[in-house]
Parts: sequence; C-alpha cells; structure tokens
Amino acid sequence: MSSTILLKGGTILTHNEDGKVVSKVADLLIQDSIIQDIAEGLSITGGTTIDCAGKIVSPGFIDTHHHTWQTQLRGVHANDTLLDYFHAGNFMSTFYTSDDAFWADEAIKATIASGIRSIFAYTPTTRVATWKPEFQLDHNSLAPWVMETWDRLAASNPFGPNGRVQLGFAFDGMYLPDKLLQDLFGKVRAQGSHLITTHAVNCSMFNTHTIAKLSSCDLLGPDILLSHANNMSSEELNLLRKVGAHISATPSTELQMGHGDPVCMDALDCSSLGVDCHSACSSFMPTQMMLALQTGRAERHRKFHGAGKWPNSIGHKVEDAFNLGTILGAKAIGLDKQIGSLQKGKKADIVIFEGTTSNMVAVSERDPVAAIVLHSSVRDVSTVIVDGVVRKRDGQLLKVNVPQNIGPDAEAGPSYSWSDIAREITKGMRVLEDSKSHSYDPEVAREGIIAAFHMDRSSAADHV
Ligand SMILES: [Zn+2]
Repeated sequence: MSSTILLKGGTILTHNEDGKVVSKVADLLIQDSIIQDIAEGLSITGGTTIDCAGKIVSPGFIDTHHHTWQTQLRGVHANDTLLDYFHAGNFMSTFYTSDDAFWADEAIKATIASGIRSIFAYTPTTRVATWKPEFQLDHNSLAPWVMETWDRLAASNPFGPNGRVQLGFAFDGMYLPDKLLQDLFGKVRAQGSHLITTHAVNCSMFNTHTIAKLSSCDLLGPDILLSHANNMSSEELNLLRKVGAHISATPSTELQMGHGDPVCMDALDCSSLGVDCHSACSSFMPTQMMLALQTGRAERHRKFHGAGKWPNSIGHKVEDAFNLGTILGAKAIGLDKQIGSLQKGKKADIVIFEGTTSNMVAVSERDPVAAIVLHSSVRDVSTVIVDGVVRKRDGQLLKVNVPQNIGPDAEAGPSYSWSDIAREITKGMRVLEDSKSHSYDPEVAREGIIAAFHMDRSSAADHV
C-alpha cells in the first residue's frame, strides 16, 4: 500500500558534501520508504501531513553495537566492572528461555516488529555449563545446530518488509585456530553476511590482540566492525584504516567498566557510536554522543594541562559527535548510501524533536545540533519514522504487530501496545531472578571467569 507523509515547516538537519550539518526551515516529503524531496512550499493531496513548525527534523540515529537481548537484565550493572558484566550480564543468556529471546527466528520477528532498521548479528556464543559448585563454561559455541541455524537464516536473508532487517555475524572466538576462523569468516561472507563484528579491548584485565589476529589471518576488510577498540596502538588503528574497517565506541559502558577511553572523537574517519548494553545505561543515542564529546574534550584539556598550556579553542565540536551518531555510523556499517543523513533518494529514517519543551526551548532555534547532543532527552522526541513508517507519534510509541514469519510479505500477527510489552519484560525479569536464585553464585562465577579467561589475578587491585 502506497503512503505519503509530508513533514511541514521543520528545522531540517541535512549534510553537505563535506559532511557538515546544514540546518534550514523547509518541508520534507516521504513517498513510501524514501525521502522524495526536501524544499520549501511542498504540498500533498491525501496522505499524512505532520506539522513540524518549531521542531527539529533529524536523521535517524545509527547505533552500531547493541546487545538488544538484555532488556530483562536492565539495572543489574549499576556498579559493575567489565569482569562483573560477564557473569551478571553476558552469561545470563544461559537462563533465558523461549519466552525471552532464545530462538533466532523469534528474535528476528521481534526486531522486525519493533520497527527498527537493523543488522541482526547472529552470534555463536559461549554459555555456562554449570554455575556451582564449580563454574564451568560450555565452549562448544559452534555445535552443528548453531551453524545449521545460520545456514537456514542466510538462505532467507534479508528479513521483513523492504529487507529492513539484514543478517550479520558476530564472533568473539579469536583464540581459536587460524584455519577455523578463516573457514568460518569465509563461509559467512560467502553466504551474504552484511558485516562481521567482534569485541576488541586492550586493558590490564585482558589483552585480546584482536586486530593482530584478524590481520595475521588475512580476515580484515571493510565489513569488519570492532566494538570498543580501546587502547589499541596507532599501528593497529592504521591497519583498520588501511582496509576500511570500523570501530563502534560505546562511551557509557567503556567509561564505567574500565575498557579505557572511547576511541571516537580522535578517530572520526573510522569510528561510530553504540549503546552496547541498555542493561547498564540509557539507549538514547544523544546520551552516547554527549558522553563521547565531553570525554574527548576532557582528554584534550588534560593534555594541555599536563603540558602547562591552556587551549585556545575547544577542539572537538558538537557537530562531530552528532555525525558519529548519524552519517559516520551509517558509513561504519556500510549503509551510508541509504541512511545516516536526510537527502533526496535516501531511506526515510527520521527523528523529530520538540523545540519548545523545557529542555529544548531557545537552544533548538539557536543551535539545533547542540540542542540534540547536549540538551535533549528521550521525552523531547515527538515522532520517529523508520523506512517511511511512523513508529512514534506525539510522544507515544505506536502499537507493533509481530509478523507470522521473517519473510518480506509476512502477514501481521498479534498486536501489542507498549504497556503490553512492559508487562512481559517485567514478568521475564522476575522469572530470571527466580532462576538465578537457584544456581547463580556471583563469587563462584567471578573466580570461574578469572580462571577461564586466564586473567592475571596479581594485576587486580582495590586501590592504586
Ligand atoms: Zn558488546
């Protein structure tokens, strides 16, 4: 069914050819899933007109690393380090059931239903074999059924209307033999994986040498997306740049859990932003932009102070952080021709902000990019459009329909409001807490992970 939406009279944030943000008051016309025009004085007969006077019309945000399955774990990591995250978060997937997010098909159906555009990174993952009395991991992450499921999904990729959800691959087993990794990466690439993502962190807790391993196995390429990449050497970062690979910096979790400083404000040519764990922080992308920006500025100021100097200028600009969460994010996942900026012919992925709420008044008119990055909250988002479909309107999330299957023309299944979903999440969270109470001992798990990951206990300290 054809649809026409006219966004009337908003402050539209476009990008020029140099990637600079240009704001102008204009109309934006959406025909089906595509931005058909951006100009003054557009009109339509029929269709939907949304009055955007005084509002900011922004490109949809690109979140390049997000463990979307962790909703039932929200709030467990308030005071956790990266080590705590492994047992209290990552390995909690062991307790998940088919009512949570256990089956890939159901997770993809839910992703389609949510309305987001997504690269669903299918992930062979290590699970917990026993929690106590001895903590033991089940390292058989590549059991036959795991890659048989991948084969089946790859055969029907992409998923949902207009292929809005695409298949990618996530894998962290960099300790495995070179040949196995080469065969695995070769296989998923041949079967159409849009990108391959892997965690990479160098810190005193562990040193993954992920870039060196990928390079020595000749596996680096423009489809590689490394999450974090903290404390990498300039040689390692240059290797990424040379092959066109990218980084997803996740400021909130990295700053909290001890990964190291986010690699983004000084790496605009090869980085992007991700939420990582909404179990630990807000999933509102401008929060990540703000953290990235102010951390980058703090790092820069520290260098000046250390050298006994004071800075003549601020260095990192608000626009740089905004671009990391929009056009540079799209580039990092190989979709910058389709999304990441508002431009005629691109996909209509759009966020509309109120301009006169208590957060946004005055700044929205003076500097709309600063309004989003430094002042906005999720409550200031009035409307969200993805692939030309309105998903939030007048500050309210609209109902979602779970499709009958993951195909492009699947019939709509049951319909859910946000309150229905919130009720299920709360129920799932309580079931998880009950399951944990029977077998999970954080101290045993913590010691088990230190042993399993060959971490150097002598480097652990309470004070320095
Ligand atoms: Zn992660």
